[in-house]
Amino acid sequence: MSQQLTERGHGHYIGGEWTDGNGAERGPASDRTEPDDGRTFESENPATGEPLATFQRGMAADVDAALEAAESAAEEWRSLSYIDRAEYLWEIYHELRDRHEELGEIVSKECGKELSEGKADVTEAWHMVEWAAGNARHPHGDVVPSEIGSKDAYMRRKPRGVVGCITPWNFPVAIPFWHMAIALVEGNTVVWKPAEQTPWCGQIIAEMFEDAGIPDGVFNMVQGFGDAGAAITDDERVDTVLFTGSAEVGHEIGNKVGGEPGKLAACEMGGKNGIVITEEADLDIAVHAAIMSSFKTTGQRCVSSERLIVHENVYDEFKERFVDIAEDISVGDPLAEDTFMGPAIEADHVEKIRRHNDLAREEGATVLVDRFELEESEIPDGHEGGAATAADGERSASYANGHWVGPFVYEIEYESDLRCLNEECFGPHVALIEYSGDIEDAVEIHNDTPYGLAGAIISEDYRQLNYFRDRAEIGLAYANLPCIGAEVQLPFGGVKKSGNGYPSAREAIEAVTERTAWTMNNS
Ligand code: NAP
Repeated sequence: MSQQLTERGHGHYIGGEWTDGNGAERGPASDRTEPDDGRTFESENPATGEPLATFQRGMAADVDAALEAAESAAEEWRSLSYIDRAEYLWEIYHELRDRHEELGEIVSKECGKELSEGKADVTEAWHMVEWAAGNARHPHGDVVPSEIGSKDAYMRRKPRGVVGCITPWNFPVAIPFWHMAIALVEGNTVVWKPAEQTPWCGQIIAEMFEDAGIPDGVFNMVQGFGDAGAAITDDERVDTVLFTGSAEVGHEIGNKVGGEPGKLAACEMGGKNGIVITEEADLDIAVHAAIMSSFKTTGQRCVSSERLIVHENVYDEFKERFVDIAEDISVGDPLAEDTFMGPAIEADHVEKIRRHNDLAREEGATVLVDRFELEESEIPDGHEGGAATAADGERSASYANGHWVGPFVYEIEYESDLRCLNEECFGPHVALIEYSGDIEDAVEIHNDTPYGLAGAIISEDYRQLNYFRDRAEIGLAYANLPCIGAEVQLPFGGVKKSGNGYPSAREAIEAVTERTAWTMNNS
């Protein structure tokens, strides 16, 4: 049942005001929401398919108002010290910590993640806020020796101006803060569009900025779809676009924005991540790492693994153990304690996963586990906030409408141009590939995708670990660990088709600042 979540309304936050925006400018109805007046859209609970709440749909006129507010606020905001700007972020840091449980549950309800992952999303957000606000007290330039004794020479950073942030649904609290905390502390103003699937999380984040007392216009949020996002990327008032999402959209934005003088787009995108399991692997570690990397968050992480590249001498044992666990993984209510994976995000995404599973079959896969269509008995019965089984024993319609998918595991003989080994599925869909030879052969297969986000190696041989570290064409490499996880002290981003060179966090400062080389004659 669609509900009113807050007295502040479910609109946009522009120039320090909540607004329903400019309805007169709205376009035709979207095919996402049904029924749809073209002016609003609904957030949905993926575990039930039921609407959570109705939100205003932003259009170009709303983005225009938000950009005007961001421009007006820019001069005063950049004039504050780093430390004063960071104070607003510290307020939010404490709120994220104080409301950890509550926010984690909201993430789980709106994007279907199992509860510990919902809470981890919030934890990652405060880690980044802490990093960005703490960074306000760190050096922000370089003092260098001048060629002339009487001259001072140093590099100083200044904000680029207005930063447009466009974020995906799968980390609906963490990623927005990964973008915005750094941009704001560095002195930029922000216009942000949350993903259409997670507007509730967007609403809460905007409320946090309002409650922290951030000056009007410094932070602005416009709810809506990709067309609102395009209005941000297309506008000449936006100096930097920070985008995280699919390669398809990211490359479009990167090409468009990157072609305009003075504008910059930092794009972090998807992956076709692999785990190399060598003959020298501890198979307990290998099986655990592969299960976590393939199925946590229902495979809907940018770093999820969709390729397991396993040495022939351990292949059969690994396969048996991996398949046994994949057959039994609990798919269910994200809020229940024993759930390993929740539902997929939405009906369209279930169809996308189905197409990838079918593609693997068409390309010659031998299917080892097919739980795409879950048995009726596997779909959860109980759910906090509503009985799923009616008194007469009939299954509740709400569960029948959840976006349930289970693991899909296949083995396939490696060939370079198989689409199933090259295209991101973003679901619980994983290939087993047997290799022979040495680490060089495994890494050759590992690198044979257009993507370059993440990967892992499982081995007890340090030569192999080092070879993987140095030769795997990825931005995030894990050894004897699952291929998932982020630490804000490290860069988080990919190479090749996965990123264009501004990984969070320290390196993202490059995307939101300009450098001035300052030389001053002191004589
Ligand atoms: P997506 O479809 O690319 O959408 C991402 C954001 O872009 C959404 O807010 C979307 O709005 C907006 N958008 C869509 N079309 C646009 C356009 N033409 N111009 C401007 N904005 C536009 O991605 P997603 O499905 O939300 O997220 C899943 C993808 O993100 C996966 O590929 C995953 O690997 C990747 N990801 C990467 C990282 C990383 O750090 N590398 C982290 C998380 C996820 P709508 O929601 O309205 O379409």
